[in-house]
Amino acid sequence: MDFRDSPAEAAFRDEIRTWLDEHLTGEFAAVGGQGGPADETSWDIRVEWEKLLGKDRWLGLAWPTEYGGRGASFAEQVIFNEEYATRSAPARISFFGEGLFAPTLLAYGTEDQKRRFLPKIQSVEELWCQGYSEPDAGSDLANVQTRGVLDGGQWVIDGQKVWTTLAHRAQWCFCVTRTDPATSGHAGLSYLLIPMDQPGVEVRPLRQMTGTAEFNEVFFSDARTDASNVLGDVNEGWRVAMATLGFERGTAFLSQQLGFQSELAAVIEAARASRTLDDPLVRQELADSYIGVQIMRFNGMRMLTSRVTRGVLGPESSIGKLYWSTWHRTLGERAMRVLGPAAMLVEDHPPDEYVLTELERIFMFSRSETIYAGSSEIQRNIIGERVLGLPREPR
Ligand SMILES: Cc1cc2nc3c(=O)[nH]c(=O)nc-3n(C[C@H](O)[C@H](O)[C@H](O)COP(=O)(O)OP(=O)(O)OC[C@H]3O[C@@H](n4cnc5c(N)ncnc54)[C@H](O)[C@@H]3O)c2cc1C
Repeated sequence: MDFRDSPAEAAFRDEIRTWLDEHLTGEFAAVGGQGGPADETSWDIRVEWEKLLGKDRWLGLAWPTEYGGRGASFAEQVIFNEEYATRSAPARISFFGEGLFAPTLLAYGTEDQKRRFLPKIQSVEELWCQGYSEPDAGSDLANVQTRGVLDGGQWVIDGQKVWTTLAHRAQWCFCVTRTDPATSGHAGLSYLLIPMDQPGVEVRPLRQMTGTAEFNEVFFSDARTDASNVLGDVNEGWRVAMATLGFERGTAFLSQQLGFQSELAAVIEAARASRTLDDPLVRQELADSYIGVQIMRFNGMRMLTSRVTRGVLGPESSIGKLYWSTWHRTLGERAMRVLGPAAMLVEDHPPDEYVLTELERIFMFSRSETIYAGSSEIQRNIIGERVLGLPREPR
């Protein structure tokens, strides 16, 4: 693979740079690099920024042109993400809609569903959340108990989800639901699309040790959605749900991974300022982190190539997920070593509000990354069993 830009790619890169020069100014530039896909920092400004991206079709870049996208090649997606990260543009908020739901919709949705949902994702009028986990269905997702029953022209949904990131912001939830009560395990599940703004949906926030509450418990009590709001075949939702997880573990995080490079630069800068960079062990660790960024970049490109070839990502997306989440958690720990005792201090803040520095935020939030989108133990099981073909773990 030749990593240099072709003339067409160089022109595409120029177009992005020019767009960012023109638009990433004022309040948008001021919130550059803030937040994360599940972080509400500077939310309102980031929503406005996201709308600008949507209007000029940078949101939905990879979608076919007939659905409002640019039909961008995988190389163009990498170029966009590189330029976006280099300029420290605001963290994206449409992660669940654009990053997870839209590619699944493109792979499994009907024409009507694509035309109904994609434009509202692009215009940022509708945000999505992911209704997978339940109190007794995390790693063991196939144990989902939330029920959906057809009643005339509608599904009636009852049950509870948990850890539902940004459910309090979302207009829609893509929800793994048991629609055949006679089944257990993978069979009899459907991938329902449920509007959040209705009496049958109650969202309760969960506050964390970081002080923020970006994820929630979601209770469905006679919640309703139209019978047509099922993606893929009824009772065949497992396949669809796994496709979304492939995107979550793989390509959706590509832009985030590219942001890791600027985080590493911030850690190196802190090491320089605190003079811990003089310590050969610290220098060696930071060099190791740099090598990791390069490995993620090339592995990300390999995943994108696989997606272009096959349409969806297979179990090998677990390799990238395991690698980047472990790398990031280690970077957070290294950042704390670089800061030394100062890492225990937080900036001046109003009562009951925590204001973390960038390095503290990396340390705190990266602890969750080896858990969500499937824990590291689960990724290892998948790689062992489904990529390497090792014997299955005893059930
Ligand atoms: C920040 C964050 C955001 C999240 N956002 C969402 C969201 O938006 N929507 C959503 O649906 N979910 C979300 N989740 C939930 C996440 O998907 C689950 O936490 C995750 O799948 C693990 O499930 P669990 O918490 O029930 O842990 P469990 O499944 O109970 O696992 C507990 C421990 O046992 C280990 N374990 C379990 N099974 C095995 C096994 N077979 N072999 C080896 N080890 C095993 C696990 O690795 C883990 O260490 C989020 C989680 C976090 C941390």
